[in-house]
Amino acid sequence: MLLRDKFGRYITDLRISITDRCNYKCVYCRTGNEGALYGDLPFADYLRMARVLVALGITKIRLTGGEPLLRKGVIDFVRELSQLRRPNGSGNSADVLDIALTTNGHLLADLAQPLKSAGLSRVTVSMDAVDPDRFTRITRVPGGFDHVLAGIRAARRAGLWPLKVNCVLMRGFNEDQIIPFGMFAREEGVIVRFIEFMPLEEERTWSPATVVTLDEILSRMAEYRPLVEIPHARSETARRYRFDDGIGEIGIIAPVSHPFCGHCSRIRITSDGKIRTCLFSVWDHDLHAQMQRGASDEELAEFIQGVVLKKEERHHIGEPDFVPASRTMVHIGG
Ligand code: SAM
Repeated sequence: MLLRDKFGRYITDLRISITDRCNYKCVYCRTGNEGALYGDLPFADYLRMARVLVALGITKIRLTGGEPLLRKGVIDFVRELSQLRRPNGSGNSADVLDIALTTNGHLLADLAQPLKSAGLSRVTVSMDAVDPDRFTRITRVPGGFDHVLAGIRAARRAGLWPLKVNCVLMRGFNEDQIIPFGMFAREEGVIVRFIEFMPLEEERTWSPATVVTLDEILSRMAEYRPLVEIPHARSETARRYRFDDGIGEIGIIAPVSHPFCGHCSRIRITSDGKIRTCLFSVWDHDLHAQMQRGASDEELAEFIQGVVLKKEERHHIGEPDFVPASRTMVHIGG
């Protein structure tokens, strides 16, 4: 039985946050506090959740956090995940899961090759400036830029492909990095994706005026070089563009100005084992508590199916009835 919500959307993408600790303190995300709020679980628990969910039709799993590379044992966990197979398959490579990771890249240089060897398919590195000083102002960790650049290059060498670099733009902070990021995409051979800033930050600084929108990004980038839109799959969150000479690709993820909830295929598991059906959910569903009370795999599957039926139709960012999510991004898993 595949997971389908009451609006007819199939749920095929799972994000698992494996910690809500982070070694960066990005100004638009965290207050700068040191600790995790919710903590994390043994990998065996996430693995069981993943196994049950794969049997229900999940085909892609993305590990996130907090910062997932802070967790010791992440490589073994990727290896175990990569051994899960989609059900009713023919036993060939099409049954293999797509396993991805979102990281700030600080610890990636040494881990890229072991992760690839363990079965990771691809990686997305978050990086909000290509100027090292600006990078430090955003992350509040001196010297981080060189580590992240080394991480990106190691990931490319390891064949973690497609290699995406995600940049959240905030007005007055880093929108002058748009063109430098276009150059970076071309020089480093990575796909740079700009993400509109969403109201999921700890310090509640978001307002519509802080969002640098898709239209603005496109017109600013066109001052550098013309862009040509690449057709994208309906389920893809990013609109994709290449430069007119074919060198370099950028993407724009525009949940605020061009929402894509109508074809959302995701659910998330937080580091403490709660299911969230939307980034903007105002409640979550305690899958781990079901495990602790001794639920069988069949009972877990039933619980998950019930939760999916409660998936929100859409977010309400910028609308008068908007209610902030019950957790901020770092404690959900972006
Ligand atoms: N530590 C990892 C990283 O840096 O990629 C994974 C977790 S981080 C929360 C995941 C992504 O969420 C990052 O790309 C980050 O920039 C993005 N993010 C955090 N807060 C956001 C917000 N309010 N709006 C949009 N994206 C946000």
